[in-house]
Amino acid sequence: MKSITIKAYAKINLFLAVTGRETNGYHAVETVMQAVDLYDPVMVAIDEDEPLLGHISLTCSDPALACDEKNLAWRAAAAFETLHPVTGCIRLHIEKRIPIAGGLAGGSTDAAAVLVGLNTLCGEPLDRPALLTLAATLGADVPFCVLADSGSYAALGLHYGEQMEVLPPLQAEDTLLLVSVGEPVSTPWAYGEIDRQNPDSPGCSADIAAALRSASPAETVLPMLYNGFEEAVLPSRPRAAAALAFMKTHGARAAMMSGSGPTVVGMFPAVNGTPSDAAARAAAMLELEGARVYTCRLLH
Ligand code: ATP
Repeated sequence: MKSITIKAYAKINLFLAVTGRETNGYHAVETVMQAVDLYDPVMVAIDEDEPLLGHISLTCSDPALACDEKNLAWRAAAAFETLHPVTGCIRLHIEKRIPIAGGLAGGSTDAAAVLVGLNTLCGEPLDRPALLTLAATLGADVPFCVLADSGSYAALGLHYGEQMEVLPPLQAEDTLLLVSVGEPVSTPWAYGEIDRQNPDSPGCSADIAAALRSASPAETVLPMLYNGFEEAVLPSRPRAAAALAFMKTHGARAAMMSGSGPTVVGMFPAVNGTPSDAAARAAAMLELEGARVYTCRLLH
């Protein structure tokens, strides 16, 4: 049996604006995605001694997740096999650490890890463009996650997210708190709220993309952070809104929602390269209030 374990990284959105609704119902977006060092270890193995050609078996540490074709990682393995049939049995295991349905691309990054892992184990039959095209068939965030799971940690995504440009990641040593308060948000509902409320457009992603391209310091980039879903979602998610406000007044130099929520992210500056005490204090306070807090850093 040959196997590989891929770190399937979570992502946050440094910028996310819905810029239009197409006649087919899809929404056009402009987004800058950035990977963080919170990850699911995803084990991908091919058991060549197993006679059941094409069989996929998946296990997961979190019993809340389906381990069949409902799991995006399982579907990724099946999609890979449509382009490159695998001789033997594909075995997958997800050690689930990224909060589920948190706006952190947890399912997408597991799927991406399966594509990257299978492609590696099979001797790279798919080149990068082919892998990204296959990833896009699984979901809008999966191509970025393929990049992140293979070492490119930031990208600009346009249109439905499929027009992607790799960017230099944000250079900041901040301690990040990813805060989940247990107020679920369904992504289709969040897009519906955007349609209904039509929040003010912030302009476009060009400024932040240009700042990252020219390796501008974090102080220049942070004022450009934007998530249009905040205005649409947070008024009906008071605990997430309160967590965001709390971090802003307790040492975070930036705080925002990730994706369509409900996870909110605080960025606490490191002091002389050491993790922020303010972040540790804020995390403790938020946990006392019943939030789940994940501490991580930007990947760069
Ligand atoms: P995104 O940011 O890409 O919109 P998300 O982070 O909000 O996604 P996920 O954690 O991907 O949300 O979960 C969304 C749904 O996908 C959940 O209902 C979950 O059951 C399902 N799902 C399928 N496969 C997975 C997986 N491997 N990990 C997490 N969720 C999965």
